[in-house]
Amino acid sequence: MTKKLEEVVKQYRVTEGRLFRLKEVDPDDRGGLKISKKQAGTTLQEEWIARLAELQEKLYAQDQWSVLLIFQAMDAAGKDSTIKHVMSGINPQGCDVHSFKVPSEEELDHDFLWRTTKALPTRGRIGIFNRSYYEEVLVVRIHPDILARQRIPETLVTRSIWKQRFEDINAFERHLARNGTVIRKFFLHVSHEEQRRRFMDRLDEPEKHWKFSLADIKERERWDDYMRAYEDMIRRTATPHAPWYVVPADHKWFTRLVVAAVVVEALEGLKLAFPAVDDDKEKELARARSLLADEAN
Ligand code: AMP
Ligand code: MG
Repeated sequence: MTKKLEEVVKQYRVTEGRLFRLKEVDPDDRGGLKISKKQAGTTLQEEWIARLAELQEKLYAQDQWSVLLIFQAMDAAGKDSTIKHVMSGINPQGCDVHSFKVPSEEELDHDFLWRTTKALPTRGRIGIFNRSYYEEVLVVRIHPDILARQRIPETLVTRSIWKQRFEDINAFERHLARNGTVIRKFFLHVSHEEQRRRFMDRLDEPEKHWKFSLADIKERERWDDYMRAYEDMIRRTATPHAPWYVVPADHKWFTRLVVAAVVVEALEGLKLAFPAVDDDKEKELARARSLLADEAN
């Protein structure tokens, strides 16, 4: 099982976008895993989340690398629940989740990378972005009035603006990578039909009503535009140091397994270890031990 999932996730990784086609990833795909939903839940908990928890302890103790996980998706693709499940086993002290909504006045007064930059994880920590600066080439691209609200000087807003944003995002991520931030980006790819079903569920269940707004239906009407924007975004910003994972999202159990396996793999690649204890430290520990022992006498 372990081996298999590690193999499975590779097919969703995009490190070089030029040839990427969104059509080639089926949202209904389950990677050929022949397991039940229940087994998937057990494996997630007992195997992947357990490994993740161990790796995170070392990441924190070593205090050198930071990890940035970016989640993008259409509404109801499962961003929130994936984050909740995959991160459930890790120490909250070593992990921050930031959700980026419609920008505030203060945020609009700055460049588009400002608000996310402030939220980046420090060394030793895992930072999760639930939406991110990638909204700047998605929702902002689809709604010109949102771009207008940014008050960028007119002469700077040209046809090249999206190309420029891709360049700036790539430069920014390269900079982060060069400074010790490990970046993994997830596009949870849900189908149009599955989104409809999940919206219906939200309407049918009173506990889910807060999650619903008519605006979600408006965005759904722009589905094809969004898919084009997502594809272009992945094509232009997938790199070896900041790969995109296009994760089939019609089956939540599968999405969670893939995300967990990707994060485990990323952390394992760092060869993390608890900091070695030097001679001075050994002496300090011995001294502490004898002081405590003396107390007991
Ligand atoms: P949700 O996370 O579904 O509650 O909604 C957050 C909303 O904020 C979504 O409709 C996003 O499209 C929107 N949003 C996030 N980032 C930006 C941005 N940079 N500019 C405009 N809208 C954004
Ligand atoms: Mg929403």
